[in-house]
Amino acid sequence: GSTIGILGGGQLGRMLAVAAAQLGYRCHIFAPEEVSIAAEVSAAFTRADWDDTAAMARFAADCAVITYEFENVPVAPLHALGSVPLHPPARALEAAQDRLVEKEFVRSLGGTPAPFQAVDSPADLHAAIAAIGAPGILKTRRDGYDGKGQWRIRSAADADTVDWPGQPLIYEGFVTFEAEFSVILCRAATGEVRFFDSARNVHEDGILALSTVPAGAPIADQLAQARDLAAAVAQALDYVGVLTLEFFATADGPVFNEMAPRVHNSGHWTIEGSITSQFENHIRAICGLPLGDTRLAASAVEMRNLIGDEALDWAGLLADPANHLHLYGKGEPSPGRKMGHVTRLTL
Ligand code: ATP
Ligand code: MG
Ligand code: MG
Repeated sequence: GSTIGILGGGQLGRMLAVAAAQLGYRCHIFAPEEVSIAAEVSAAFTRADWDDTAAMARFAADCAVITYEFENVPVAPLHALGSVPLHPPARALEAAQDRLVEKEFVRSLGGTPAPFQAVDSPADLHAAIAAIGAPGILKTRRDGYDGKGQWRIRSAADADTVDWPGQPLIYEGFVTFEAEFSVILCRAATGEVRFFDSARNVHEDGILALSTVPAGAPIADQLAQARDLAAAVAQALDYVGVLTLEFFATADGPVFNEMAPRVHNSGHWTIEGSITSQFENHIRAICGLPLGDTRLAASAVEMRNLIGDEALDWAGLLADPANHLHLYGKGEPSPGRKMGHVTRLTL
């Protein structure tokens, strides 16, 4: 068959489906939401809860291969996919969806995360601050994205102001970084690995605002070490597809922040800026096709996210002929919501 199943229905699934269509595949989206912007550009949509294993089994029966665009897909129900290949494998989800497991895993491969400690109670938080120091960041272990589920802790006094969520947490020391960057690689089933250029990423309010390539110093000097770690992660997971690791470039070298077992917002610039995009290479990898060239197609690239109201001026953005405008079709903007992005190349 030539149907690719995608677990998750957001903009990453949408961009994967567009890349898949270009290669002649049809996509079938499985997602719990009523309206899926990925399903709108796909051939089929199964709208069901993650734990609806009967629906998942019917979905799998339509698919030759299955992937995911969302790292918080629950792992337990995935047995319902049966013998249909899942790329990347479920163990990549397990490694990436709990920040504590993720940091321990990456540390076991030689990576350096910020100092961290599990926190399950206010007493634990005080103990973690005593052990690691402040400032730091308290994060939910699961389900966080775009800086959601995080509390900045400036001093021990802040610990008592946390509106305590009923879920496991992790406290991390605050990293003094010079810049942030991401390593995005694509690994084929043969074990072949190709790296995209790394972007310098600027976050505002915990949300990616800007990615620029080339990343420049000090990122360029820390890239080899960061890439070695990313490749080790991919190999340890027997990974197939696009994998992202986020780093802080510090005076002491690259500090691992988190990983995403999927295509990544900081790689959206590759749609126009790389010879093969992260989306196309992910599709190629999971379908067993040869990987495409990941070299730059320009001398410099800039990708800016359109967050909330910023997407409303799409006409103004299109008035500049150098802008590549991407709108995700999400409808009404709300504050902090990623509505689209704009990419500019310097040839
Ligand atoms: P994403 O949307 O990337 O999945 P997330 O909600 O998982 O985001 P993180 O990547 O953990 O959040 O944090 C978001 C941003 O907050 C980071 O990119 C960085 O700018 C800042 N940040 C997070 N942890 C730390 C830290 N320990 N020290 C310094 N800054 C941090
Ligand atoms: Mg994250
Ligand atoms: Mg992040």
